[in-house]
Amino acid sequence: MPGNFEGGNAGMDVVIYARLSLDKLGNELGVDRQLEACRELAARQGWTVTRELIDNSISATTGRVRPAFEKLLTLSPKPDAIIVWHLDRLVRLTRELDRVISYGVPVHAVTAGMLDLSNPTGILMANVVTAFSQFEGQQKAARQRLAATQRASQGRPWWSARPFGYERDGTPRGGEAEAVQRAYQDLLAGRSLLSIADEWNRQGMLTTRGRRWTGATVRQLLMSARNCAIRTYAGDEVGPGNWDALVPEEIYRSAVRVLNSPTRKTGGGGPRRSLLTGVATCANCGGPIRTAWRGRKGEQGSYAVYECKFKHCVSHRQDEADTMVSERVIRFLTAPQFAEAFEQSEDDLPAQQMRDELGSLRSRLDDLATDYAAGLVTRSQFLTASQTMRSRVDELEDQLSQLGSDSAVKGVTGMTDEQVRRHWDGLDVDRKRSLILAVVVSCRLRQKGRGVRRTDERHVDVLFRAGDPAKVASI
Ligand SMILES: [Zn+2]
Repeated sequence: MPGNFEGGNAGMDVVIYARLSLDKLGNELGVDRQLEACRELAARQGWTVTRELIDNSISATTGRVRPAFEKLLTLSPKPDAIIVWHLDRLVRLTRELDRVISYGVPVHAVTAGMLDLSNPTGILMANVVTAFSQFEGQQKAARQRLAATQRASQGRPWWSARPFGYERDGTPRGGEAEAVQRAYQDLLAGRSLLSIADEWNRQGMLTTRGRRWTGATVRQLLMSARNCAIRTYAGDEVGPGNWDALVPEEIYRSAVRVLNSPTRKTGGGGPRRSLLTGVATCANCGGPIRTAWRGRKGEQGSYAVYECKFKHCVSHRQDEADTMVSERVIRFLTAPQFAEAFEQSEDDLPAQQMRDELGSLRSRLDDLATDYAAGLVTRSQFLTASQTMRSRVDELEDQLSQLGSDSAVKGVTGMTDEQVRRHWDGLDVDRKRSLILAVVVSCRLRQKGRGVRRTDERHVDVLFRAGDPAKVASI
């Protein structure tokens, strides 16, 4: 590890080396700051700065000749140490590092401390730092090229092939765009990927490569951030796109959450699930609930039960438990607390504000990456700023995805008791499950007392979401 060279060694003669790459903008301040920090360090240590060497306008990753760097390696007599702001100012390629090592003078980086290149540990550290710089330099360069290509294409999206739902110029393609929008709605309402694929195949709708749809290709389509006008690069979201969104971002976020949910079966089709597996938990030990059979499945007198997967603490007949939970959900959907909790979300304002904030955060992250690639901000500045922004992005994405799943419930607000009951009875198991997940905070099955045979109200403990997110409603 690079040690800190505090104390001792006063009276050394040192050379300061600074470099500014002008990949993007001329900015003398950058070099001034580097020099200032290096001079301060020297003063603190009681070292004498015999020389300041500066390379301007040349990026170390291009590998072009840097006059001041060459000068530094031929200084005679050699200085006692070289001071730099960050090692990547001095070397960004491993072959340059080798030359510095053979030069045999310790390097002191303001941001990292002393690198003694005369011992193996120092050399290892320097190699690691340089390898990272080289790698990052290459990556950022690739990203800058991409950004340039996109700017050059004058407001047009940079797509190598027409994506489903869009024309090449980024305008939504009638028919396909509507199908994508409907698919998101259906997915959030609990429909499986396979049944969406089947419907499209029946309608004769093909992928842009002229193939029939599968659950996997529908999934891939719906997982694409392009559909809410977010630009991605190598799988990372890199900024707002300049084309029309097919769906609002919150719908996209909730769909991603649904598709990434570990309880979701891959492929989405498969055997019909029970209402409460993956929804309810054991009130006794907190474990998940699974389905089991009493008697041989399908034979007369056999029946399905929910039981605690971990410790078998609870066991309830499925039909009885399903009825109890359904009644509670219907009661909640007709209660004033439900209207309170979900009617507010009719107001699109918070969602719009979150979308706007996300959009501007992404642009800022984008600018920051470009500045970093151009050497205008240091690595630690880059990391600090991008971490802060990214955690806010995560937070907003989470809130948005919550709003998106609310939209599956909105249709139910304002229904009469009878309408709610009819609506509920008309839903298939998947849709019921997603409605329960949207309104419920927790659903727990309790142990039956001794001698109790039937599952009743006391055995289901359901907490619903309330208008105030910090509270829950017990109906
Ligand atoms: Zn249990």
